[in-house]
Amino acid sequence: MNNVKDKVVVITGASSGIGEETVNLLAENGAKLVLGARRLDRLEKIQQKVGHDSVSIKKTDVTKSDEVNALIETAYNDFGRIDVLINNAGLMPQSFLEKNKQDEWNQMIDVNIKGVLYGIGAVLPYMRKQKSGHIINLASVAGHVVFPGSAVYCGTKYAVRAITEGLRQEEAIVGSNIRTTILSPGAVSTELTDHISDKDMKQDIDELYKNAIKPDAIARAINYAINEPEESSVNEFIIRPSSQSL
Ligand code: NDP
Repeated sequence: MNNVKDKVVVITGASSGIGEETVNLLAENGAKLVLGARRLDRLEKIQQKVGHDSVSIKKTDVTKSDEVNALIETAYNDFGRIDVLINNAGLMPQSFLEKNKQDEWNQMIDVNIKGVLYGIGAVLPYMRKQKSGHIINLASVAGHVVFPGSAVYCGTKYAVRAITEGLRQEEAIVGSNIRTTILSPGAVSTELTDHISDKDMKQDIDELYKNAIKPDAIARAINYAINEPEESSVNEFIIRPSSQSL
C-alpha cells in the first residue's frame, strides 16, 4: 500500500533537520513536494537533489501570513491540489525567564504558534473545498511536560497541541474529511539547538542531546500518518530516544 505517491505535500521549515529528512523520504515514496523556508539557497540544493519535476520551492517566512498564503498558492498553482500541510518550522532558544530575553520569546511565539495558525488559515479553504486533507503539526515532548529554562518554548508547544486538537474537533463536526496529526519528538539531532544564546542553558541541552535520535525517525512517523487510509486519522505521536527520561 502506497498512499503517499502523488500526494501534494507542503512543508514549512524544509531547509534543514526534520523538514529536510521528511522531504527526502516522502520524495522517495512518490509525493509531490512544496518546500518553504527562509534560506532559499538550501531549498534550491534540496530541489536539485530530489528533482525539479516533483519539488517546488518558495522562500517563506512563516511569521508573515502573506508569505504563508503565497506558499500554499504555489502548491495549488503548481500541482492543482493540496493533500498535506506539515507545519514544521520552529525554533527553541531556551533560557530562564529571569534573563528577560523578550526578542527570543517573541520569535518563538511568532514562529511556533502564529506560523502554525497562518498555515492552518491558508490551507483550510482549499482542503474544505476538496473535502479532504491532512494537517500535521510539529509539537514536542515540551508540549507534554514543562522543565526549567523551557517555559516559553513549552508554552508554544502546548499551544500547538491545543490548536491541533481544536482543529481536529472542528473538522470532525463538519465532516470535512480533514485529518490532523500532532507529532511530539524528544531530542532529535538537528540545527535546533544551535540558536540557544544562553551559555548555561546550552551546556545542559547539549548534554541531553548527546543521545539524540536522527531526524529520519520523525520522517518515518510522518510518512506512516500520511500513508494510512483516508478514514484513519493518526492523531498523535510521541517519539523519544529510548534513553531519554524527560
Ligand atoms: P532545525 O533548526 O533543523 O529546523 C528548523 C526549520 O525551521 C528550519 O528549516 C528553518 O528554516 C525553519 N524556520 C525557522 N524560523 C522560520 C521562519 N520564521 N519561517 C520559516 N521557516 C523557519 O530544527 P528541527 O528540524 O529540529 O525542527 C523542526 C521542528 O521540530 C520544530 O518545530 C521544532 O520545534 C520541532 N522539534 C524538534 C526537536 C528536536 O530535538 N530537534 C524536538 C521537538 C520538536 P530557515 O532558517 O531556512 O527559515
